[in-house]
Amino acid sequence: MTKNADITPRQDAPCKYFSERGESAIATTPIVVGSHYDIIVIGAGIVGLSAALALAERGVRVHVLEARHIGWGASGRAWGQVAAAAKHTPKEIDATFPPERAWRINETMARIPEIVSETVRRHDIQCEMLESGNLIAAHRPGKELGLRRLADDLARRGYPVTLLEDAACTTVTGSPRYRVALQDKRGIALNPLAYTRGLARAVLNAGTSISENTTVTQLERNAQGWIVQTAQGAIRAESVIIATNAFTSDRLHPGIGSEIFPVRAYQAISRPLDPQILAGILPERQTLNDTRRLFSGIRIWPDGRLHVGVDGPERSGDGRAFLTGASRRLRMTYPQLSPVTWQEAWGGWVDMTADKYPVLHDLAPGLWSAAGLSGRGIGVGTVLGRDLALCALGQAPDAVHPITAVTPRWYHFAHSSIVRLATAAYRIEDAIADFRFHAMGQEFFLNPPLDRVQSTSITKG
Ligand SMILES: Cc1cc2nc3c(=O)[nH]c(=O)nc-3n(C[C@H](O)[C@H](O)[C@H](O)COP(=O)(O)OP(=O)(O)OC[C@H]3O[C@@H](n4cnc5c(N)ncnc54)[C@H](O)[C@@H]3O)c2cc1C
Repeated sequence: MTKNADITPRQDAPCKYFSERGESAIATTPIVVGSHYDIIVIGAGIVGLSAALALAERGVRVHVLEARHIGWGASGRAWGQVAAAAKHTPKEIDATFPPERAWRINETMARIPEIVSETVRRHDIQCEMLESGNLIAAHRPGKELGLRRLADDLARRGYPVTLLEDAACTTVTGSPRYRVALQDKRGIALNPLAYTRGLARAVLNAGTSISENTTVTQLERNAQGWIVQTAQGAIRAESVIIATNAFTSDRLHPGIGSEIFPVRAYQAISRPLDPQILAGILPERQTLNDTRRLFSGIRIWPDGRLHVGVDGPERSGDGRAFLTGASRRLRMTYPQLSPVTWQEAWGGWVDMTADKYPVLHDLAPGLWSAAGLSGRGIGVGTVLGRDLALCALGQAPDAVHPITAVTPRWYHFAHSSIVRLATAAYRIEDAIADFRFHAMGQEFFLNPPLDRVQSTSITKG
């Protein structure tokens, strides 16, 4: 059975706003049937292109195959935040991996924004990078202690984080809703499609070729290496890298599609807002997340537009973002905003794994795959792509992420229902917090009896 085939790259358009700014689309070339490469990379998102770039810079003959266009997948649809963390806190990573591996993952995650900004500078990528930091705010009192503990732990590890409280928090977030926020100065933000296109330009400049509108339908191995079948014909390579993210399917290798739980996520961008009103909202232009379970991201673009994460149909490739809910949440966070007019909304597939750690596999001689970035792939995908390149070059021990066996989840057949149930539970949890904030009044909400304040995990996307 072909897993995740129901979400093959569809016709839904990526973000027009991103497309019209920064790096332009790139002309690519069709495949030459029967041609032979050292390595073929499947998927022209951040992971596939980072792998191709690392290989090309080492003199390897690489060809990239993309079913639709460069950045068509999640890479061209993301919110654009690059945090110094994946989905887990350093403490959780310490508790999950052996010490040496945990140290390596934590050390790399801490440098993720730096790695991305170095890549942007080295290749002069025009992607409106903002190095202004990230904020995570507690959206209800029960989340404040978790945030304090995280801030303490990060500060103990020597990272440049500050816990902002009361007036300092209100000034930096610009919102009366929050009393406590963690400010991480390392975080950056960018235009993800422009970043992806910039990687593609660097890949082409390094002598590598890319073919768009070329879907890989099958992989076969013979004595000479891999035969990569596409609708246009077959090409060959010594090694193949599969970087197909949420579209990863058992069709290319048994089991790899059954580890990934694709979830639809939505974004919306407003028309430019009144500069006077905007001046008080995120005045230092950090990206803001809060501790709710679903879609809290808010950022401001240099041309005065708000860009937010939005809830929507979680398993529908052509579903529409819930813009009324997004407007309501914005009013609650920023009552000073007059109604926002939305310019554009779009959706994309996020490749969740069961434990929210990425998966990196050595599938067969000369066949590698990686996926499962669980909504953090702009920065972590840049590193994972390089890891894939190292693996394909026989330097797997140098990879940051551990190479694991494929672990198809037996319950994957029910993944649509699992995603729907989990999302419904998260919606209820967030709605209760919003209701309390609204109904009980800000004073009560922000000054709850102390016994209601308890420690909770704050990990979120
Ligand atoms: C709405 C949204 C918001 C997000 N926000 C953020 C954020 O703020 N910060 C962050 O770090 N991450 C964010 N993410 C996650 C991030 O975008 C992804 O983790 C990252 O882009 C994944 O990169 P990728 O290269 O693995 O996948 P993709 O960009 O999805 O690329 C995979 C490519 O493979 C191609 N493909 C698939 N099958 C085939 C085939 N058979 N043959 C040829 N080509 C194929 C697809 O067309 C696609 O272009 C967000 C994701 C979404 C959807």
